[in-house]
Amino acid sequence: MYGNIKDHLSTELANIEEAGLFKSERVIISPQGAEIELNTGQKVLNFCANNYLGLSNHPRLVQAAKEGLDSHGFGMSSVRFICGTQDIHKTLERKIAEFFGTEDTILYAACFDANGGVFEPLLTADDAIISDTLNHASIIDGVRLCKAQRYRYKNSDMEDLEEKLKEAQSVARFKIIVTDGVFSMDGNTPPLDKINELAKKYDAMIMVDECHSAGVVGETGRGVTELFNVRGEMDIITGTLGKAFGGGIGGFTTGKKEIIEILRQRSRPYLFSNSLLPSVVSAGIAMFDMMAETTELQDKLHSNTDYFMEKMMAAGFDIKPTRSAICAIMLYDAKLSQVMASKLLDEGIYVIGFYFPVVPKGQARIRVQLSAAHEREHLDKCIDAFIKVGKELEVI
Ligand SMILES: *Cc1c(COP(=O)(O)O)cnc(C)c1O
Repeated sequence: MYGNIKDHLSTELANIEEAGLFKSERVIISPQGAEIELNTGQKVLNFCANNYLGLSNHPRLVQAAKEGLDSHGFGMSSVRFICGTQDIHKTLERKIAEFFGTEDTILYAACFDANGGVFEPLLTADDAIISDTLNHASIIDGVRLCKAQRYRYKNSDMEDLEEKLKEAQSVARFKIIVTDGVFSMDGNTPPLDKINELAKKYDAMIMVDECHSAGVVGETGRGVTELFNVRGEMDIITGTLGKAFGGGIGGFTTGKKEIIEILRQRSRPYLFSNSLLPSVVSAGIAMFDMMAETTELQDKLHSNTDYFMEKMMAAGFDIKPTRSAICAIMLYDAKLSQVMASKLLDEGIYVIGFYFPVVPKGQARIRVQLSAAHEREHLDKCIDAFIKVGKELEVI
């Protein structure tokens, strides 16, 4: 009987709307890319996708997906351990391990599942998870599903992390430090070299979620482990095929081979959820082949990011220091972030303003995400629009 809950939900929805927190979706009628078309007929430049390497509609990946459909069919109709493992799933897992310099990989339907299914099979109430306060929602959910003791340290704060490691020292059998590779609202990276030193000192494992860093950060885009020169030293890396790596769908956990093998035996989202579809797997293989051949896209992304940051700072904008392709333009005022994003859309620039509770109170901002799909003229148009609207709103 639906009755009472209908009224309750309607009130909840009204409250969300009143608080200005209602999320409505813009409808795009073109493929994802630097230039997109909305269902209003408006053509805009996209600066809010996770399409860091510009691969979302790359001809080579589209072709590989079509070939995968032809050679391996549409769906798997099974989980991996029953009859859902094809040769291409094994190939993709190997290629991911090669990319990160790890021993083995396990695929998931999404990184949300990878993070949701990584802790519970490995850790018990005798163990401790020491997690950065700004870690992604899927890590938080994964931790909740596991009985291990929980410690939270302040974002990238090594003193606080050491404090928590000391606290956990006497009570925990195994310890694991968990961090995002790039924090999505600021674009900052955790000091993985220092985390690695602390991990050695206090005998803890490390897990890093490379969703926003893989393909982006580091000289050749190998992620934060490349940036901090700790490649091959992480115990667990999780990541997504849904951002820089083509923007399709799929997640993975890669790392020490015993860990991956236990996950294959016991990780619930792996055991009880369908296998990745062949077209996605084939495109993934083509993508990692491309990554192995050239760093052209990473180079272009890095030069785009440097160019954009430099021009925006020269124009007087207040920008968070970033080591990724995320550029947070600080406005502090929630309302201003919404007005500015809307005026930028009128100028043909699609960006999103974020405010509490997505970011701390008084820390409202517009987040710009750069891409290798952006050409210099796209960047210039975006910068010009920011300057125009910024002056109008007296931000600069
Ligand atoms: C996007 C993201 C995820 C989720 O990835 P999906 O593959 O889209 O489920 C997990 N962790 C972090 C840090 C992310 O940014």
